[in-house]
This record gives sequence, C-alpha cells and structure tokens, in this order.
Amino acid sequence: MSVRFVIIGGGPAGNTAATVAATLGAEVTLIERDIVGGAAHLWDCIPSKAMIATGGELAEIDRARAMGLAAEGRLDFPALKERVASIESRLHESVRSLLESQGVRMLHGTGRMISPYSVVVTTEAGEEEIDADAILLAPGSRPRIPEWAPIDGERVLITRHAYPPPEIPEHLVVIGSGVTGVEFTHMFSTLGSEVTLVVSRQQVLPAKDPEVAAVLEEEFMRRGVKLLKGARAQTIRRDGDRIFVACDDGRAVEGSHALLCIGSVPNSDGLGCDAAGVVVDDRGYVPGNRHCQTNVAHIYSAGDISGRLPLSSVASTQGRKIAEHVMGLTAVAHRHLDYDKAASAIFTEPEIADVGLAEAEAFAAGRKLRVTKVPFSSNAKALIMGDPRGFVKVLSDPATGVVLGGSIVGRNAAELISVIALAVANRLTVSDIVDSLLVHPALAESLAEAAS
Ligand SMILES: Cc1cc2nc3c(=O)[nH]c(=O)nc-3n(C[C@H](O)[C@H](O)[C@H](O)COP(=O)(O)OP(=O)(O)OC[C@H]3O[C@@H](n4cnc5c(N)ncnc54)[C@H](O)[C@@H]3O)c2cc1C
Repeated sequence: MSVRFVIIGGGPAGNTAATVAATLGAEVTLIERDIVGGAAHLWDCIPSKAMIATGGELAEIDRARAMGLAAEGRLDFPALKERVASIESRLHESVRSLLESQGVRMLHGTGRMISPYSVVVTTEAGEEEIDADAILLAPGSRPRIPEWAPIDGERVLITRHAYPPPEIPEHLVVIGSGVTGVEFTHMFSTLGSEVTLVVSRQQVLPAKDPEVAAVLEEEFMRRGVKLLKGARAQTIRRDGDRIFVACDDGRAVEGSHALLCIGSVPNSDGLGCDAAGVVVDDRGYVPGNRHCQTNVAHIYSAGDISGRLPLSSVASTQGRKIAEHVMGLTAVAHRHLDYDKAASAIFTEPEIADVGLAEAEAFAAGRKLRVTKVPFSSNAKALIMGDPRGFVKVLSDPATGVVLGGSIVGRNAAELISVIALAVANRLTVSDIVDSLLVHPALAESLAEAAS
C-alpha cells in the first residue's frame, strides 16, 4: 500500500513536498485555504518582485538618459496592477497544473489535525476526515500587527495591502527597516512616492554587514528618502487623509500612508497541534530536527512555521527533503540542509545578496579570516552598463583557501551570489573560482578578482 501523505498549506514548502512525494509514489492530499503557490505567490515574493521590477525599469530610464537616450518614463498604475495579477495567476496555474499532473489530490479548505494520524478538512461542502501515514505542517506565517497599529487597509497598511496598494502613496511612512521594510522603501521611492523610513536601530538592515547597509543608506538618501534612525514607532493615528506616526524618542512624522513591516507570526494556531501531541514553542513555531520531523516522528514542519530562515527557497528545499524522507530515500546520498549556507537577497537598488559566514560575527568570535573586497567601479561591464555602484566581498579561510562566505552589492547581485553560494556549499576554494575561465566583459569577473 502506498504512503498516505497529508499536507496542510500549499506554499513553497507544501506544494514542493506534494510534487516530489507524488513523483516518488505517495498518495498525496494537499489542503490549501487560499491558492496553491501560497502567500509566497499571493502576497509576498512574487508581487513584491514584480512591482520592484517596474520601479527598476523607471530607474533604468533615468540611467538611459545618462547614456545618451532621450527617454521619458511615466507610471501607468492600472497597467502595473494588471501585470502583477497576471504574473500571479500564471504562476498559480503552473503550480496547480504540475500538482494535478502528478495526481495530487487538492482540497480547497482549512485543515487541522484531530489525532496524530488524522486530519479534518473543512471545505464549502462540509467536513472530511482523512487518514494519514505522514503529515506535513506548512501553513506559513502572516504579518505581525501590534495593538497600537490601527490597520485599515486604506491608509494604515500591512505588506499584504501593498501589492498592489489601493493607490501610489504621496508620502509613505515605512515602519521597520529589515529586508521587507527596505524593499518597500526602495519600491515606492522608485514609483514616485516620498518615503520616510523609521529605523529602530542606528543602521538599516541591522542584521547585515554595516558596509552593505551603508551603500543602501547612501542610495536612499541620494533619492531623497528620509531616514529616522534610532526611533521606534509607538502609535499611528489617522486623521482623514493624513496619518501621524509617533516614536518613542518624541519624534513624530506625518504622511499620507503608513506601512508596517515589523516581522511575522507563524500560522500554528488552529492546526490541532495539541490533539496530535505536536510541540509548539513559546513563539508559535513548530520546531523540527534535521529531517524536519517534529517531536512526533511522522509529523513534519517546513517553511516559515519551522522557525528557520523565512525564505521561499528554504521552504521549498525543506519540502523536497521531507518528501524524500517520507518515502525512505534518506539513505541514498542524503545531504542535510545547512541553513548557515543559504544564500539570500534583498531586491533593492543596488541589489544586495549574501551567503555563509558574516564578517563581523566571525571577527567577534576571534576567527581568522581572509577578506577581499573589490568595487564594481573597476569592472568593465559595470562601467559599460553605466552602473558601477557596489562591491563584491569574499571571505575565505586563510590556511586552506576554502570559501566561507561573501556579500555582493550591485547589479544582478541576486544572480551573481550563486557562484559564491556554490563554493560555500561545496567547500570550494578561492583558487577554484579564480581558475574558472569566466566571460569578459562580465560582472562575474569581480568575483574572480575578489577571490584572487
Ligand atoms: C513581503 C515579502 C516578500 C518576500 N520576498 C521573498 C523573496 O523574494 N524570496 C524569498 O525566498 N522569500 C521571500 N519572502 C518570504 C517567503 O514569502 C516565505 O518564506 C515563504 O512564503 C514561506 O513559505 P511557506 O510554504 O512556509 O508558506 P506560505 O507561502 O505562507 O504558504 C502557506 C499556505 O498555507 C495556507 N494555510 C495556512 N493555514 C492553513 C490551514 N490550516 N489549512 C489550509 N491551508 C492553510 C495559507 O493559505 C498559505 O497559502 C517574502 C516575504 C514577505 C512577507
């Protein structure tokens, strides 16, 4: 008899696990209350990057003028909204038809466990109980909303209201300067909004390399973004078409819209973890071991609910590994996920990407490191493209040359980091990068230069 695998949540974690497990012969049921593709397709990764791409094209037109073209750009907001919706629906359709072609049973409804081996799904037609040999919890997360934020979806927004927003804000106050906050700041400033960014620490992207954050701050200031540093928002008040944000240091800022980007909370409530005996930690995450098994061996958790790196790429890789584990494939050359080696990117202008060891933390821990930094201003391709901003930084072990990490700030950083990520994941050395015969002229030449 084939393995009955029930998955709650059809985001990157759930739909990848479903496809892989079905390919390997499992009898898969996937329960999703919104759309397969998940929040990643509906509100998070995809719409954000689609809108950022439009803003990027507007910035490109500005640069084109510097390259001798008489070009003029103007935002067509209805066309932008249509474009975002069409990308979402194409991706949703491609995930749905892939699942269908693999024979995955898709149920549109809300799932919850009622025992360690059974899940109830509530659909429009009523309730159905499904028996399971293995269960995956992949319900994702939602934006965190503190009690002082009177979210109304019109003027006081969370990220889910902003892709696309009801209108392009005249003056947006972004609260929170982590990855999401800076991406929104970037996006709306390129789309023509005046933006004030409330930064609770002394630098944007507090978890990132200060040199990386500095390039972004400089770019924001060049574009007229106002940074309110060392200020923690305490209240938001709406008065007609204006919003007022008051901070804990006494400063206040007025704008047309406020947008909250202060993190997320896991969707573990209502999953029936108690009924199944699954441990939920005090922040609402469902932790797992290296195979993503919870304390109940045949119940797995993946994606944002696992409390690991909240990235779509991590969620889908976990989903694939779980499907293999459920189907007993772990003995065959199984590599465990090493979350410290996950590459990540921030889709601002310039783009920011990093992987592996962080320089400041490594030095603080007394670790010996070889750090080489090369600016794009000496790269032929960057000069040809008229965008020499940023740099490449490669971190390696001085004794062995093994690449331990790196950061890239600049054009196509999210693509270029793949080379360093491959080196970090496979313990390649700086010589392996330097000895690769790369293309000229190319931005990637700066990688080889930083590795030499
Ligand atoms: C604004 C923003 C931008 C982002 N951009 C990026 C990016 O560029 N790159 C990147 O790698 N990551 C990005 N992320 C992070 C990424 O979106 C998440 O890490 C990823 O979506 C997590 O995948 P998941 O499978 O855990 O859950 P989700 O994508 O959240 O999917 C979970 C699904 O489960 C469903 N669900 C929940 N509970 C139930 C239930 N009881 N029954 C049935 N269905 C249920 C939900 O409807 C949802 O569709 C971004 C996040 C945000 C907020």
